[in-house]
Amino acid sequence: MLWKSKKEGEPSWETSLGEGRPGWHLECSAMSMELLGESFDIHTGAVDLIFPHHENEIAQSEGATGKPFVRFWIHGEHLNIDQQKMSKSLGNIYTLSEIEEMRFEPLALRYALLSVPHRTKLNFSIQSLEDAKKALERIDLFLLRLDEVSRSAPHDAQRSDSHCDQLIGRFLTDFETAMDDDLNTAAALGALFSLIRDANIAIDNGRVTSNDAEGIKTAMMRVDPVLDLYPRRDDALDQSVEKLIDARNAARRSRNFAESDRIRDELLSKGIILEDTPGGTRWRRR
Ligand SMILES: [Zn+2]
Repeated sequence: MLWKSKKEGEPSWETSLGEGRPGWHLECSAMSMELLGESFDIHTGAVDLIFPHHENEIAQSEGATGKPFVRFWIHGEHLNIDQQKMSKSLGNIYTLSEIEEMRFEPLALRYALLSVPHRTKLNFSIQSLEDAKKALERIDLFLLRLDEVSRSAPHDAQRSDSHCDQLIGRFLTDFETAMDDDLNTAAALGALFSLIRDANIAIDNGRVTSNDAEGIKTAMMRVDPVLDLYPRRDDALDQSVEKLIDARNAARRSRNFAESDRIRDELLSKGIILEDTPGGTRWRRR
């Protein structure tokens, strides 16, 4: 297990044990100790690696150092694609760039993968990406709505134990309880969408003041580093793109097509695609 003697067609090295190479299990112990030290916090892998691979890693590492090798092991279940096991021979494999070519944001993939706890088999399908996209739009629209309420709703100077405080308290407790439960990301997302649903009803009923809206947003931002799911708006980028589009429109009006093409290419090199529509020039990220 520790050492494989030389085999034709495999890499090997001259050593005091003869010609050969370390076994696969040993490679993992050696690499992780080299980069992370003799003990480290988290080792991940799929469930099929628990035995023999990870048990061997523990035995040989702890046998060599006498110290605990890894503090937490996190084993993910397998991924199914359209109800079938993902495998090269079936050809049911999507690469990240294929998913991007289908015009899905990488964020939609992250959402789809988080929507099922890591110990549960995830059935991945294009439908799961469509669902993820809709869920992300719901989060985005809700954040925009909160900003709108923060700007326009009356300010409540004496905040008491309001309905919104209860919603926020329940959300933070449920979210944390879910993540403490063996990283149950599905339940954590459930807590987020309960908050969105209940707060939307409260806004409809005029029960959300501007400070309530700010409080809800602060709570949502508190959990943002955990899931990293909220759509990002880059205001500085938006402004620089708008400026270049104005310059391009001015160039086109004065029939300076060389300049307008140059600006189009400059934006394209930054991953911005322009679409000229009857209503004006629109842009999107590639
Ligand atoms: Zn390994």
